[in-house]
Amino acid sequence: MGYTKELETIETLPIGELIINQFKSIIGEENVFEDSETRTENGHDKTEDYQFMPDVVLRPANTQQVSELLKICNTHKLPTTPRGAGTGLSGGALPIKKGVVISMDRFNKILNIDELNLQATVEPGVITEVFQNAVKEKGLFYPPDPASSGSCFLGGNLANNSGGPKAVKYGVTRDYVLNIEVVLPTGEIIWTAANVLKNSTGYNLTQLMCGSEGTLGIITKIVFKLRGFPKKNVLMMIPFSTNEEACKAIAAIYVNGITPSGMEFFEKEAAAKTFDYCEKVLNSPVTTKLIEGMNAYLLCELDGNDEEVLMRDAERVMGVVEKFESGEILFADTEAQKAELWKIRKNISPAVNWYTLTKSDDVVVPRSNLPKLINGIKEIGKKYNFNTVCFGHLGDGNLHVNILKEGLSEEYWNTKVNDGIGEIFKLTVSLGGTLSGEHGIGIAKKPYMSIALGEVNLNLMRGIKKVFDPNGILNPGKIF
Ligand SMILES: Cc1cc2nc3c(=O)[nH]c(=O)nc-3n(C[C@H](O)[C@H](O)[C@H](O)COP(=O)(O)OP(=O)(O)OC[C@H]3O[C@@H](n4cnc5c(N)ncnc54)[C@H](O)[C@@H]3O)c2cc1C
Repeated sequence: MGYTKELETIETLPIGELIINQFKSIIGEENVFEDSETRTENGHDKTEDYQFMPDVVLRPANTQQVSELLKICNTHKLPTTPRGAGTGLSGGALPIKKGVVISMDRFNKILNIDELNLQATVEPGVITEVFQNAVKEKGLFYPPDPASSGSCFLGGNLANNSGGPKAVKYGVTRDYVLNIEVVLPTGEIIWTAANVLKNSTGYNLTQLMCGSEGTLGIITKIVFKLRGFPKKNVLMMIPFSTNEEACKAIAAIYVNGITPSGMEFFEKEAAAKTFDYCEKVLNSPVTTKLIEGMNAYLLCELDGNDEEVLMRDAERVMGVVEKFESGEILFADTEAQKAELWKIRKNISPAVNWYTLTKSDDVVVPRSNLPKLINGIKEIGKKYNFNTVCFGHLGDGNLHVNILKEGLSEEYWNTKVNDGIGEIFKLTVSLGGTLSGEHGIGIAKKPYMSIALGEVNLNLMRGIKKVFDPNGILNPGKIF
């Protein structure tokens, strides 16, 4: 069975005036919110249509305040949910057990960009794109680039170990984190490591925090490592007759020793919905045309500092893809054309969600198994009578599957469709893959965890949680 709200929601006693007054004395009355508008706003993210009401929303501004607030929450055993920008797709930031939401939006400062050591120290409420642009101005590169980069926060990226198109060459958020300041649920403040590139000093608490989804501690500062910004790139859109041919071509590109900096996939249906959305909602029609008879598209980006090398690699990509059923390749010659192709890719998720309610999965398998995965998902869709739109970061085997509600009844959507999702996860695991490549488990995938991980693994995770959070106050009900 999949996730159902009714199983999670428990009745808790409202937080008393005494405790609310303690919160106010720490962060000021103006940063303690009990009104229904703020509570509603902080009770949903971008996961389906889920909505939960916290009792109170707190907006601290520094580490000491987070520590003082957590001490109170811990003493009174209040469910406490850390929140970034609320763009999550697995429900990680939802206060499913009511209680307190700690919003990190006032932690919005880039504290230092250390050009000599290629490092930067930031607060967790900095918007990802703001950080990317700030380091780019200094010729530096922070590669993790979720499609939501214009609104999501760096702290949320770390807590979910977010990826994005450039992960295929440069890695995900966890690959750029050197050191983290964390407030534990008990209120203690720690740094997880040191600002160094090598570190074999005991267990790796830094990496444990990456992908911990706000269940182990609240991140209050992050030290990232950076790279030099690649000066040139080439972007092409390659059409294929079928999803399967596109998937086979991806594996072949890597087998031929080419390492694109982006290898994004979308099926025709995803593009069609995005074109519609760009025209009708964004008022910014797409001028690129889809090609007759072609049902799947790859966006292949190559980057580096030497144009000749890039052009040679682009020719090699063309040589590889012509062995599959590919059509005429579109080269984006200008920055405007590149922006337009990325606009298509970045708007797929909002477009599909504008079209209908969706359940969104982000399964990941070894690249060579992508054809079996995508064909299997379409078969499962037929069996359970739902349509899917597939797209994603296929260069690293990470497929986003949006299941469309369209005309399905509420009851069917909350029962049979969840069974179908269970089958998708079983198929994924049988192909050597796992449940989530980058969106995390949250509540949406929690019921399926035993498909991917055995009881021993889950018990180890529960044990770690208990050590960090003996009273189980921080983001309760998430992951397992
Ligand atoms: C249109 C769209 C496109 C997207 N594209 C991508 C993509 O390409 N790649 C990708 O990986 N994701 C993508 N996402 C998913 C989402 O944007 C990411 O998961 C993002 O990292 C969430 O950041 P956030 O600040 O919104 O976090 P939230 O949703 O607010 O929270 C996410 C989790 O982090 C925890 N958390 C937040 N801040 C802290 C903190 N300071 N300390 C401890 N825990 C914290 C929360 O408790 C929660 O568990 C997309 C989402 C949308 C809507």
